[in-house]
Amino acid sequence: MPSLLPEGINRVLVTGGAGFIGGAMVRRLLAHTTATMFNLDKCGYASDLTGIERLGPEAVQRHQLLRVDLTDADATAAAVRQADPDLVMHLAAESHVDRSIDGPGTFIESNVIGTYNLLQAVRAHWEALPAERQQCFRLHHISTDEVFGSLGATGRFSETTPYDPRSPYSASKAASDHLVSAWHHTYGLPVVLTNCSNNYGPWQFPEKLIPVVILKAVAGEPIPLYGDGANVRDWLYVDDHVDALLLAATQGQLGRSYCVGGHGELSNKQVVEAICALLDQRRPAGAPHARLITPVKDRPGHDRRYAIDPTRISTELGWQPRHNFEEGLAATVDWYLSNLDWCDQVRERAGYAGERIGVGA
Ligand code: NAD
Repeated sequence: MPSLLPEGINRVLVTGGAGFIGGAMVRRLLAHTTATMFNLDKCGYASDLTGIERLGPEAVQRHQLLRVDLTDADATAAAVRQADPDLVMHLAAESHVDRSIDGPGTFIESNVIGTYNLLQAVRAHWEALPAERQQCFRLHHISTDEVFGSLGATGRFSETTPYDPRSPYSASKAASDHLVSAWHHTYGLPVVLTNCSNNYGPWQFPEKLIPVVILKAVAGEPIPLYGDGANVRDWLYVDDHVDALLLAATQGQLGRSYCVGGHGELSNKQVVEAICALLDQRRPAGAPHARLITPVKDRPGHDRRYAIDPTRISTELGWQPRHNFEEGLAATVDWYLSNLDWCDQVRERAGYAGERIGVGA
């Protein structure tokens, strides 16, 4: 079986592996390597393991869920000791901006304190490793382009863009990035960081833009479009992001950060209209789905535009996205149409029926 991991990387600890991007990473590594996967996740409202369970018995046997909340320092340290990892990929975080507006405390606890607890546990683990394993060991911290703030009509974020977070979510992620860098500079912990743009694809909990629009349209319900719909995001297909993460984790320069974007800049209105057009083809009885688009009050502090210049990861590590937005979106729409039952189940379990959140006080 071809391996995506260098020799000596046999035990991988992924935090947040019951979530959307972490789950894609765990599935990729289970399917394409022989590594043992430790999945540290508190199993919160957005978590689900169905995609991993569908891989089959051999892969499932190499997957171990460590149901731990990173805010619990002792449990985190015990989980790291149990996993005894060669590589740690840290994706666990509260991830939805709208929820951070309604309840910022959880974001500070999970994303800032949780990252601090993980860093301390990983540092103790790394310091105790025998020299050969210590040499190969890495912690990869996964973050967002939102730490850079909001762009005007021109320009793109790169690794040298100053941090300027604007939401409780992005501020908590910025804090976690700084902690990871500090643990590298102060304690020598071998770290790599990545900051990526908006991901989309299968298995995303249906509270983020693309799955929300698909489900609202299929149900014939109003499709909410925040503000004037002109906010721009740089859409990145989740499997392309996983490619980038594996390159950064295994070949990235220690202490360095890499920006990952999909060359997929589109306004929210363009994204919503593209989904409606795909649904018109796949479900003509409901056409034109665009009639359901309904402007709603904007998100407080809504960043206007994000765009990523991925030159560093492209030139240094040879990464390129394999999917353009049209292909990725068509695959995503088809996946959701084939998995409407899963959407119902996870929304019901989370107690979330697709209602508007994050409008602020
Ligand atoms: P997600 O919300 O789908 O999954 C996050 C997972 O982390 C969940 O399973 C949750 O239970 C777990 N988690 C949260 N707090 C935890 C804690 N205290 N202890 C243990 N587990 C905890 O998020 P995602 O979209 O998969 O994002 C993964 C990472 O990528 C996050 O760090 C996020 O900031 C970053 N990111 C995401 C996007 C995106 O578009 N989705 C873009 C840029 C960066």
